Amino acid sequence: MEIRLQADNCTICGACEEACPYDAITMGAGGPEFSEECTICGACVEACPTEAIYTAGKEEASPRPEPDDGAADVWVFAEQKDGKLLDVVLELLGEGRKLASQLGASLACLLLGDDLDHLAEELIEFGADRVYVGSAPELKDYRDDLYAQVMVHAVKQYRPGILLIGGTANGRSLAPRAAAELKTGLTADCTGFALDEDGNLLQTRPAFGGNLMATIRCPHHRPQMATVRPKVFQQPVRQPGRQGQTVALELPPLVPWQRILEVVDEKGTGPNLAEADIVVAGGRGLGSPENFCLIEELASVLGAAVGASRSVVDAGWVSYPHQVGQTGRTVAPKIYIACGISGAVQHIVGMQSSDIIVAINSDPDAPIFSIATYGIVGKVEEIVPALIQEIKGSSS
Ligand SMILES: Cc1cc2nc3c(=O)[nH]c(=O)nc-3n(C[C@H](O)[C@H](O)[C@H](O)COP(=O)(O)OP(=O)(O)OC[C@H]3O[C@@H](n4cnc5c(N)ncnc54)[C@H](O)[C@@H]3O)c2cc1C
Repeated sequence: MEIRLQADNCTICGACEEACPYDAITMGAGGPEFSEECTICGACVEACPTEAIYTAGKEEASPRPEPDDGAADVWVFAEQKDGKLLDVVLELLGEGRKLASQLGASLACLLLGDDLDHLAEELIEFGADRVYVGSAPELKDYRDDLYAQVMVHAVKQYRPGILLIGGTANGRSLAPRAAAELKTGLTADCTGFALDEDGNLLQTRPAFGGNLMATIRCPHHRPQMATVRPKVFQQPVRQPGRQGQTVALELPPLVPWQRILEVVDEKGTGPNLAEADIVVAGGRGLGSPENFCLIEELASVLGAAVGASRSVVDAGWVSYPHQVGQTGRTVAPKIYIACGISGAVQHIVGMQSSDIIVAINSDPDAPIFSIATYGIVGKVEEIVPALIQEIKGSSS
């Protein structure tokens, strides 16, 4: 992107110079002049009262969409693993359906893999009107290079207005590759969507370490792309027998530029954190890595998954797949038991949708209590063993 000036519109009012947070603008005789300090933050574009300053791609940017240019439908990338749809896909279908209905548009899925017709049916029953299926042996397992090529090809051909992608490890890798190739915007880790009066997607996401919620628009480029983490939205109800259309994609030449040497699944211990009904999570209040075994034991007697705050992951008490929060997993179990966790906003964003939150903390003023359903003030090293005894006793 670069900043451009429509000199005819410039009144040399100086609003841009005043608005620039980097002192990168000086006013010349013909209007603003931009120095190397410019970060293209857009403050001058916002400040310019005559729309003389605007941003544009260095190469030809994808054109501002006109109302009738056909970039309309809402698409969801239907990520699958081993022939099974990921839950986040269904969650996005629920949200995509709402947006498509408000826009009067269709809801479609992009499904890539090999031999996946059964999944197309499932997507339709969960709300898709149309499923674009890209099928080839090379697409059987996810890979960045080929999936990005097919996504870009399909988007150029069918021109969706909105493209939603699950914020999984693969989705986070695929989305920016496709967005860069399509020269459009991408908002990562959205937590809410709405539409403005012009039908632009309003994409809300935490910013500044979760202290602010930012709402982002992408009015000049299509598709409007966003990723959403698992468990942020609810799955819609399946409608068995629902009818829709399946379209076989014409694939572009698949040109591999990556060589995959080995795929290693990093596994946490116990049930899958993202899917467990009960999560027992430990934080720095446990005092030592040895005490983290209390969390594992309580999780084990409850048949729960083990979660953790970032502090203890950073300290090496437990591995990263257990981390809950903004830079870890988002979970929404029936019961979340937070042990010795203060309740920093970056942790809370990852677990606040849990049905019941139980907090154990020695500080009665710990922020975690403000979102807890049940709070226990006391030392984890005393309360957790007592809970374990109680549960073991009641089950024997
Ligand atoms: C960009 C960014 C991203 C981040 N992402 C994440 C994230 O994804 N997940 C995350 O968790 N954090 C994240 N953080 C870190 C976050 O801000 C907090 O630092 C972290 O969550 C604190 O972890 P904690 O609650 O375990 O530790 P602390 O904040 O140190 O809290 C320990 C708590 O234990 C209590 N306590 C002490 N002793 C006992 C005892 N004996 N018994 C009971 N309670 C006791 C204390 O009262 C305190 O409330 C992020 C930070 C940034 C800046």
